[in-house]
Amino acid sequence: MPYKFTFDLSRISRFFFAEITKASYQKGVHEKLGKRTQELILKFRIQEATGLNLSDAVLLLQDLIDIQARNLLEREKFVSTTKRALFLPHCSRKFMDGRCRATFNPTIPSYICAHCSDDCLVNKAVSISEKKGYDVYVLPGGSCIPRILKSGCYKGAIGVACGNETRLSGKTLEELGVAAQAVPLIKNGCANTIFNVETLINTL
Ligand code: SF4
Ligand code: SF4
Repeated sequence: MPYKFTFDLSRISRFFFAEITKASYQKGVHEKLGKRTQELILKFRIQEATGLNLSDAVLLLQDLIDIQARNLLEREKFVSTTKRALFLPHCSRKFMDGRCRATFNPTIPSYICAHCSDDCLVNKAVSISEKKGYDVYVLPGGSCIPRILKSGCYKGAIGVACGNETRLSGKTLEELGVAAQAVPLIKNGCANTIFNVETLINTL
């Protein structure tokens, strides 16, 4: 399920994401981070940069902090896994129409990238992660994840998606005992979305 608002954090300073990581450590100690979240919104001028109202900006930041906190908690377990899957969102393809040369396999279901564009985020992510031994799926939605995990007997998985999609899938993975890491989208909107490739490389 997408957010009810769109956002683009792709031009926000890298320090912002470092602060998100710091805040997620603090979350382990202080469950309530409302004041800290609002300080970050002011410090990095998130409302001015994204046009979000305060409550949407707070929701977005809290999701980012939750994702990072969960990543930290699961990291050790994830690193010990050997069979892993990477789930990429179809919305990060460079093209969402016939210019995307990917084939779609409905039985998985997944797009199979044909590597038509060097500057496509999905292309980059597929190439990097397959070299590292990941099985990669470019998904039209998150509902097929449990089936893929079970049929592939995966013990670890990385999901790239927007915050609330990630939160929902995270619960499913937890129930299945799969060690998960998430890479949040930094621009949503269900088309031409963006994730940080460096963050993905550091997570792999
Ligand atoms: S590089 Fe792959 S995912 Fe990107 S537009 Fe081309 S075929 Fe589609
Ligand atoms: S932004 Fe992408 S990952 Fe999020 S709901 Fe839309 S299509 Fe799914």
